[in-house]
Amino acid sequence: MENLRDKYEVVIGLEVHAQLKTKSKIFAPDSTEFGQEPNSLTCPITLGMPGVLPVLNKEVVNMGILTGLALNCSIPERCKFDRKQYFYPDLPKGYQISQYDEPICVNGYLDIDGKRIGITRAHLEEDAGKLVHMGSSGIADSSYSLVDLNRAGTPLLEIVSEPDMRSAQEARRYMEELRNIVRYIGVCDGNLEEGSMRCDANISIMPKGSDVFGTRAEIKNVNSFAALERAIEYEIDRQIEIVEEGGEVVQETRLWDDNSRETRSMRGKEDAHDYRYFPEPDLMPLKISREWVNEIKDKMPELPSQKRERYMSLGLSEYDATVIVEQMGLALFFDKVLALGANPKTAVNFIMGEISAYLKETHEEISETKLTPENLAELISLIEKKTISNNIGKQIIIDMLKEGTPASKIVESKGLSQISDTGAIKEIAQKVVESNPDQVAKYKSGKNQLFGFFVGQVMKETKGRANPQAVNEILKEILG
Ligand code: ADP
Ligand code: MG
Repeated sequence: MENLRDKYEVVIGLEVHAQLKTKSKIFAPDSTEFGQEPNSLTCPITLGMPGVLPVLNKEVVNMGILTGLALNCSIPERCKFDRKQYFYPDLPKGYQISQYDEPICVNGYLDIDGKRIGITRAHLEEDAGKLVHMGSSGIADSSYSLVDLNRAGTPLLEIVSEPDMRSAQEARRYMEELRNIVRYIGVCDGNLEEGSMRCDANISIMPKGSDVFGTRAEIKNVNSFAALERAIEYEIDRQIEIVEEGGEVVQETRLWDDNSRETRSMRGKEDAHDYRYFPEPDLMPLKISREWVNEIKDKMPELPSQKRERYMSLGLSEYDATVIVEQMGLALFFDKVLALGANPKTAVNFIMGEISAYLKETHEEISETKLTPENLAELISLIEKKTISNNIGKQIIIDMLKEGTPASKIVESKGLSQISDTGAIKEIAQKVVESNPDQVAKYKSGKNQLFGFFVGQVMKETKGRANPQAVNEILKEILG
């Protein structure tokens, strides 16, 4: 397949649904809380009873505007809602309220690793309920489905990209950045596994050099970044095979199965006219004043790309900055440590080193440990003041994560403060030299590498507490 791949250009556009974190639904007062008793969060509006009227939740609009601005979109002065008709048991009204030709956000972009990916639009809509298929849950003779409408009416923002991506990796990076953004601006959990962020990948191929796009297939049901990458790779190969055999790719929706690692056809893809979109008669078009937009703009938190740049201006490598920003909990913790005046490089060494290793081992978030930003900042200042060595710091950070004990307490109770008293070090160094006459002779006859041995012995005698610089100087003096 690899050499066939060289013959084709891959074209990818993503449609991402982000569940907005409002307390209540987009057109109804029901709570959006997850994990409640099935069908308990369902007022007559959510149930689609005849005669009820939807009422737009202002917070949904606020979040839509905030996201649009974060994605460099324009927010038109006017947007409106439309009905998209389709039948499904988890959609009691028989239509979904969405936005068609006048969405809330248009013409945005995201820069991913120096390449600009266009964002066509982002529109507000309501989520459907959930079907629970009993047959597939292991109960052999009960192949029926149940409907839970708690999720029905949960606000979604659908973010549609231009077909600007050219590889599975690019699509993944775009999706990761989108996830970072919605999490940092606080509009969505961005959890792919739990479905609070969902992605449909549109994929087509065309001969290299062509500028006529091929027919696309739309892949649904990707629940992780790794699955997104795998699904796209699979789909590229499937389409190449069809074209190579003289066939034609058909426009359809395919489902990714991450267990069997393949896509399978779900249904032919509807065209827009099949949905018979028309303006929602129960909702007025929405006027969005420039004052409203500016008010939201003023509240924009620092975006992931800005955070990365700030970290790099503090001397972090691009890699470290990226890894920390990817994990919002760590980034917010790091920011607090910085605000307490800690040295950024020392802080990042702890965060990327011992702390990350500990979190990986315990499968915890930093907020679940007992380490506080204050305690880490204090530890760093003890190292800066040379009260303790960096090595001692690395030893006690684990206790701090587990027990929440301040560094100064541990240093005091365990007697870990650094020995910088040259008299004391000299005494120990003298003893080390006297008790190793053979090594001294070898060293003096030219085996310079043995110097490290003497340093090691002094460190051992002082349990790592001797100031390494002082040890070096004193040993050089004694050994001549
Ligand atoms: P629909 O709403 O029917 O899925 P859209 O025209 O809104 O259709 O496009 C959906 C997505 O498909 C967009 O992200 C767009 O960039 C992408 N797309 C459109 N044409 C192609 C193509 N030929 N190959 C890959 N992606 C495409
Ligand atoms: Mg689509």
